[in-house]
Amino acid sequence: MRKYVIMGVQGSGKGTQSKLLAGDLDLVHISVGDIFRWHVKTHTKLGAQVRRLVAAGELVGDDLVEDVVRDRLQLHDWNFGFVIDGFPRNRRQAEFFLESYDIDGVIHLDLPDDEVRRRVLARRLCSRCGMDYNLIAHRPEAEGRCDVCGGELVTREDDAPDALARRLRDYHSKIDPVIELFRRKEYVMTIDARADKVTVQQTIRARFNLPPYDPAWTGEPAQLPG
Ligand SMILES: [Zn+2]
Repeated sequence: MRKYVIMGVQGSGKGTQSKLLAGDLDLVHISVGDIFRWHVKTHTKLGAQVRRLVAAGELVGDDLVEDVVRDRLQLHDWNFGFVIDGFPRNRRQAEFFLESYDIDGVIHLDLPDDEVRRRVLARRLCSRCGMDYNLIAHRPEAEGRCDVCGGELVTREDDAPDALARRLRDYHSKIDPVIELFRRKEYVMTIDARADKVTVQQTIRARFNLPPYDPAWTGEPAQLPG
């Protein structure tokens, strides 16, 4: 059984790294953001609650997040373990988590703020079909135009420099103390997230003594000892 928490700022590749890690090791990737998005999309009671909060410009409260995580982990569909992404988001949730689950490690994807800015500010979105672009890794063929539909490429409101600066401040004020708390328990492996995704994944696995990632892997999960 392997239980990991993955932490990192927006743009650090948390989702991608979680999926690469979960695949052949047969871990369940638990993304708190995905769970909330699913509830909103499926129009559950919780989804309606989240929708009201968001419409009122409020954040989803700690209690609600903790309930969702507790319910999700109680499904016990994780025979070989899990990678949780998007939780804990503050010190209180970290304390709750440490009391409730024994985790094997915290994967801390470290990306300097100026690299976050470089990555996030390069993102564009087609205003017509919603296709995502990235001026570093996935440039459109014609500048400012969608390759698929010819629509105009725009920046998400969320990706504007001042909105990003606010999110970075918010991230550091909440998440740095969480990492500090985990670090005191000696759980944290800090991984340089500036490398390409396969290198980052191999580094994570080496640091946690896991079998190396096989980029050609498509099939059956490896059985881990223990
Ligand atoms: Zn388009």
